Amino acid sequence: MGLDAASLRIAFGVMTFTLGLLFYFSSYRRTRSAYSVWWCIALLLFLAGSAAFLLDGTWHQRWANPLGNVLLVSGAASVWAAARSLGTNRPKAWMLSVGPVVTLVASTLEDPATNEWSGGAVFLASMCLLIGLASRELWRLEPGYSTERIPMAVAAGFLAMYYLGRLITYLIQGPDGTVFVTFFGSSVTTIITMVLLVVVSFSMAGLSIEQQTRALRTVAMRDGLTGLLNRGAFLEKASAELHRLRDNTTPGALILADLDHFKAVNDTYGHAAGDVALQAFADACRASVHPTDLIGRYGGEEFVLLIAGANPYRAENIAAAISQHFADSPAPGGVQMPTVSYGIASIDSKTGYVEELIASADAALYQAKSLGRNRTVRGTG
Ligand code: GH3
Ligand code: MG
Ligand code: MG
Repeated sequence: MGLDAASLRIAFGVMTFTLGLLFYFSSYRRTRSAYSVWWCIALLLFLAGSAAFLLDGTWHQRWANPLGNVLLVSGAASVWAAARSLGTNRPKAWMLSVGPVVTLVASTLEDPATNEWSGGAVFLASMCLLIGLASRELWRLEPGYSTERIPMAVAAGFLAMYYLGRLITYLIQGPDGTVFVTFFGSSVTTIITMVLLVVVSFSMAGLSIEQQTRALRTVAMRDGLTGLLNRGAFLEKASAELHRLRDNTTPGALILADLDHFKAVNDTYGHAAGDVALQAFADACRASVHPTDLIGRYGGEEFVLLIAGANPYRAENIAAAISQHFADSPAPGGVQMPTVSYGIASIDSKTGYVEELIASADAALYQAKSLGRNRTVRGTG
């Protein structure tokens, strides 16, 4: 074949540049997700690294060749960072810099002025490792993530294996061996990388939008003032939780809480102080239950909790703990926190819908109010 490495590199550069532009306008500008930022950086680094290799064979090879290696390894590190940012793992600076730094040192040691493969083994090993880590990260994403990650995980896994093959052949034969030149040389690698970049960029746009959608969904489920689940999100999650409890025949309790004479707090101390009291009550709830229990702001000064595994007795203790935390919370401007009334409904095998459960807790809450407030009443249903 008459494909020379330099022409391929130029084709690679043009393609990477085009992909970068397309990706920037179609995805990054719309979503600005962490994922698309890392991917744009990766494409830029691949482009720059490839350009640096064009100086091979000239006087400038002595600095351009090590630089090219470092840029490509940094690109691979950015791909890894992109994959990590999809999960909850923030990429750490030191993790990303180990590969490029080691590659820089190795590439300057083996006479880069005359040796195009200076630092080759370390370069190949770093590429293999970083791309392999990116693939692992994509596989490990929770199953809820769209299937668009699968072609990317496969592409990254394949590229990591390919670099492993390059590394092994390089170590056995050196860069001039026939197997290395035929299957693992610069030209073949450039073609393979081009194909994979197209595959990955294609899936990337979809994933990047998904990352943004997830972030928006999380915001949409929360109440802005207290950070608790809002009514709709609570009902949705509680419904799923009820199914789970019923399937496992686990008991549970739903607690409805309503702050007593809350209107008076607003009237006496002002609406802003009322908001602070609502936030303090949300904190009191969070401090009194497990992180896995559901807490929602049901309405203005009404809150709802679903506690898995709790019998009515335990639910009463939780209500008492919430009131205690609430009364103890710091009150700026001398605000007197109001007392709280609670209605409790038990969950058992006969429990139907969340709405029925809430109606039962609401009846108990109404009774608590009628009996003089600042108390907990268990529902009969
Ligand atoms: P009760 O003991 O019978 O529950 O009396 P209450 O005053 O607590 O009940 P009511 O339903 O009469 O008043 C609820 C008050 O809660 C009225 C409303 O202005 C206030 N409120 C609702 N949402 C907010 C909010 O987000 N911030 C503030 N500061 N007040 C709120
Ligand atoms: Mg009230
Ligand atoms: Mg109320």
